[in-house]
Amino acid sequence: MPHKDVLEIDTIYIDGRFVTPHGTELFDLHNPATGAVTGRVRLADEEDARAAIAAAKRAFPAFSRTGKAERIALLHRMADAVAERRGDLLDAVIEEYGAPVSRAAFMVDHPVNVLREAAELLGDYPFVRRMGTAEVSMEPLGVAGLITPWNSNAGFICGKLATAIAAGCTAVVKPSEMSARQTRIVTEALHAAGSAPGLFNIVTGRGDRVGAAITGHADVAKISFTGSTATGKAILRAAADTLKRVTLELGGKSPTVLLDDADLSRAIPLAVSAAFMNSGQACIAGTRLLAPRSRLAEIEALAKAAVEAVRAGDPRDPATTVGPMVSRTQWERVQRYIRIGMEEGAVLLAGGEGRPEGTEGWFVRPTLFTAVRNDMTIAREEIFGPVLSIIPYGDEEEAVAIANDTVYGLQAYVLSADAARARRVADRIVAGRVLINSLAHDPKAPFGGFKQSGIGREYGSFGLDAFLEPKTLLGEGV
Ligand code: NAD
Repeated sequence: MPHKDVLEIDTIYIDGRFVTPHGTELFDLHNPATGAVTGRVRLADEEDARAAIAAAKRAFPAFSRTGKAERIALLHRMADAVAERRGDLLDAVIEEYGAPVSRAAFMVDHPVNVLREAAELLGDYPFVRRMGTAEVSMEPLGVAGLITPWNSNAGFICGKLATAIAAGCTAVVKPSEMSARQTRIVTEALHAAGSAPGLFNIVTGRGDRVGAAITGHADVAKISFTGSTATGKAILRAAADTLKRVTLELGGKSPTVLLDDADLSRAIPLAVSAAFMNSGQACIAGTRLLAPRSRLAEIEALAKAAVEAVRAGDPRDPATTVGPMVSRTQWERVQRYIRIGMEEGAVLLAGGEGRPEGTEGWFVRPTLFTAVRNDMTIAREEIFGPVLSIIPYGDEEEAVAIANDTVYGLQAYVLSADAARARRVADRIVAGRVLINSLAHDPKAPFGGFKQSGIGREYGSFGLDAFLEPKTLLGEGV
């Protein structure tokens, strides 16, 4: 049972006010670095979801008619307000999610940046276009349901909400129940920014209750979802009845294609960072390291040393790069995959089952397998933890074939000393983003996946298009 001085979160945000949910279920919040209960959240239910949707529906007619200047000003006020809560948010991201301080700084700046980037994008976006003799205007879709996961909670809430606002949509946000503390801070900040009641509503609850109520509701026109591929498929099915527009940002099993000319002193640290970013809990993690057989021994030795040097432990220690897994369930899931890797014949080079020495929470040992075949479970399924698999290949042709032999297609990495050669390989990889000798991000470029990594794109003008519907006017006076 939680200690009596744990944080109690017992309100949700509907129609511009913090209100007590109709739902009564209580959900424990943990510090994943210790496993201790640190808070308790009262969850919303279906009735709360319906109240939030009704509020967003009431707010839509007026908000959809606002101009660019008003929305840009609101986005900047929101960015300022979230930036003001940086200290609180940093604590929450470390305590509730277990993000290492090195990563946590990005996680609290990112939500501010996405709000500002949406404001900038909106300034340049052509809502009215001439096409032949027609005038085409991009119209906001209506109420948007925004459903987010726990691995970058504040960033996903702000990113999706910023785009909905830029488009002139109103919103109901359903964040992960495991991130309630971060959600509360973000909600308080967005509320302090001042906006019309109902413009955005934030209801923390279970996915199969609140999430499902949003996805099935006839008054919701659009769903933007980030989460697992299995949930994404359930959402797509549920949204079919009312033909909602759906954007799905789902899982990945991203390849890192290490070409045989690569400078390994640069390439190996980059490959390990790509694999273990966000403690391995990243949809874009490069978890399959495709290594040329001609240099395999060298690559294995360097990768082993690099993975052994990765510090998994106290998230507040600046030297830590891998924090705990977010929950016991997630920890068990990663342990199971490590076991499956061993059973299926992969060769363990570093890490393995169990916890790193001296840790008590949900820490995983940074793990490296080699002799992995692309048909093994650990090469096919998303593990969502710090587990990297080396998959040997013969020639470039085979590397491309292995890279593309996956149901996913979110991101890929190509590492080579020859930029032109890397580019040729990148052109053949089926993925929403391919990074060459880099871990770069560009918020103006679209983000999203091919194949079962999702549907649609976020960020930039493609992201904004996804909250809008083109309307054509023809004839007299046009
Ligand atoms: P999840 O699919 O379990 O949950 C995501 C959200 O969906 C949560 O808010 C959850 O409550 C809700 N949900 C669950 N069932 C639902 C239902 N039936 N209807 C509506 N909503 C429902 O995912 P997670 O475990 O929170 O996050 C990890 C997953 O997210 C990983 O698979 C990862 O790859 C993916 N992810 C993808 C991206 C991307 O941009 N492509 C980014 C981050 C994470």
